[in-house]
Amino acid sequence: MERTFSMIKPDATSKNVTGAINAMIESAGLRIIAQKRIRMTPEQAGLFYAEHKGKPFYDGLVKMMSSGPIVVQILEGENAITHYRALMGATNPVNAEKGTIRAAFGGELPHNAVHGSDSEQSAAREMSFFFSQTEIVG
Ligand code: UDP
Ligand code: MG
Repeated sequence: MERTFSMIKPDATSKNVTGAINAMIESAGLRIIAQKRIRMTPEQAGLFYAEHKGKPFYDGLVKMMSSGPIVVQILEGENAITHYRALMGATNPVNAEKGTIRAAFGGELPHNAVHGSDSEQSAAREMSFFFSQTEIVG
């Protein structure tokens, strides 16, 4: 069993599709073992996305990610990291395969509905960025 970190982004919470996205996650066989709705400050969003600092889309991404509520989650399942990346679909929703979350609910970049960790190291970092051990109930 593996764990990954997920975020339902402000564009998706504003569309009121948190439950629809969670249904896709659960139908895919992933289990939501931690979840909370929060709002990031621009400082928090900047730190979370520090790997992208200096890229042309960084400022817009930080602004968008702090513009409204997000839902942060930990998902558990077999190969959860790659499984959830596949369920999310391509970064740009225009290229996202049919049946993926980004194809269903994404808009124009940076609005692509969800985030998912891209490696074991990023999953560990991102889970501990938002959750303490007592908030994770597998
Ligand atoms: N993003 C953007 N323009 C780009 C690339 C990325 O607005 O050209 C945004 C988008 O919201 C994406 C986030 O920045 O989800 C992080 O980018 P990354 O390359 O890590 O994509 P992801 O891992 O989310 O698929
Ligand atoms: Mg990424």
